[in-house]
Amino acid sequence: SAKKAKRGSFHFFAPWMAEQAAANRALESDLRQALNIGQLSLAYQPIVHARSHKVIAREALLRWTHPVRGEVPPDLFVPVIEDAGLIGQVGNWVLREACREAAAWKDRARVAVNVSSAQLAAGPVLVGHVIQALGSSGLPAERLELEVTESIFLADDSTTRATLEQLRAIGVRLVLDDFGMGYSNFVCLANGEFSKVKIDRSFTAAAALPGHPAERAIVESILTLARGLRLEVTAEGIETVEQAAQMTAMGCGQLQGYLFGRPTVPASRAEGLPEPAPVATLRPRPYAA
Ligand code: C2E
Ligand code: MG
Ligand code: MG
Ligand code: MG
Repeated sequence: SAKKAKRGSFHFFAPWMAEQAAANRALESDLRQALNIGQLSLAYQPIVHARSHKVIAREALLRWTHPVRGEVPPDLFVPVIEDAGLIGQVGNWVLREACREAAAWKDRARVAVNVSSAQLAAGPVLVGHVIQALGSSGLPAERLELEVTESIFLADDSTTRATLEQLRAIGVRLVLDDFGMGYSNFVCLANGEFSKVKIDRSFTAAAALPGHPAERAIVESILTLARGLRLEVTAEGIETVEQAAQMTAMGCGQLQGYLFGRPTVPASRAEGLPEPAPVATLRPRPYAA
C-alpha cells in the first residue's frame, strides 16, 4: 500500500522506536476518543492577493485540543490518523465541514483543504467524498482548492494520476503544496491538472534575506515555470513586511502567513455572529465508502 511505501522502510530497530510506537498507540487511542466526543475542529488562515491584500482563499487547518496535552500539532497526529486507517473518515469530515463553512462566506472566497497521500490513494472514495461535500453544501466546485504535497508523486502511479484527473474534471482546483521541498518535480506540473503551486515557507524566508542566492534562484525558477504553465503561485509562511515585499517584487501573486492572519476560528464566528451549534466538531458518522 502507499502507506507502507511511505513509512515501512526501517532497516534496523532501536529502543527509541519501541517508545515511539507506544507513544503512537497512546495517541491513537486518545484520537479515537477525540473523534467520538468532538475534540477536532478546523481553523482558517487567509491567502491574500499580493498587491490588494484582498482575501482570495482560506486554508482549513485541522486542530485537536487534547484534554491534557492541549493543542496537538497536525504534523504529529495526521500521520497517526493515517496509520490507524481513520484518514478516510476524518478527511471526509474536513471536506464537508470546510465546504459547509465556505458556502456561507459573504466574500465568496475559496476554501483550501489539505488532502493526504493516503486519501489520494483511496481514489474513487475521495472523488465521491468531494462530490458529496460540494453537493450537500452547495459550494461551487471552483471555490474548492485541494492541496496535495509533492511526496505523492514518489508513488507516481497511474491511480494517483487518474484520481487527479477526475478531481480536475469535477471543476475543483488542485494545488501543489510545499513546492520546492523534497522531490521537486517540475514534470508533475506539466500535465495540466494543477491550478496553483505553493512555495514552501523555507524558501520564502530565505529568499527575502541577503546572501541566499540559491534560494532566490529557486524561487525565481518556480515563478518562471508557473508563468509558463499559467499557474497561480502562493508564497507560504510570510511573517514580515520585508518577506511580503520581496515575494511581491519577484512576481508572486498570492501571499499567506502570520503577517496576514494566523489560523483562526471560522470567519462567521470570528465576526461575532451567533455560533451555529456544534459546527466545528466531529460527529461520528457512518463511514460511507
Ligand atoms: P501546510 O498545508 O503546509 O500548512 C501550512 C502550515 O504552516 C500550517 O501549520 C500553518 O499554521 C503554518 N503557517 C502558516 N503561516 C505561517 C507563518 O507565517 N509562519 C510559520 N512558521 N508557520 C505558518 P499547521 O496548521 O500546524 O499544519 C501543518 C500541516 O499539517 C499542514 O501543512 C498540512 O500538511 C497538515 N494538515 C493540516 N490540516 C490538515 C488536514 O485537514 N488534512 C490533512 N491531510 N493534513 C492537514
Ligand atoms: Mg496546505
Ligand atoms: Mg503548505
Ligand atoms: Mg509548508
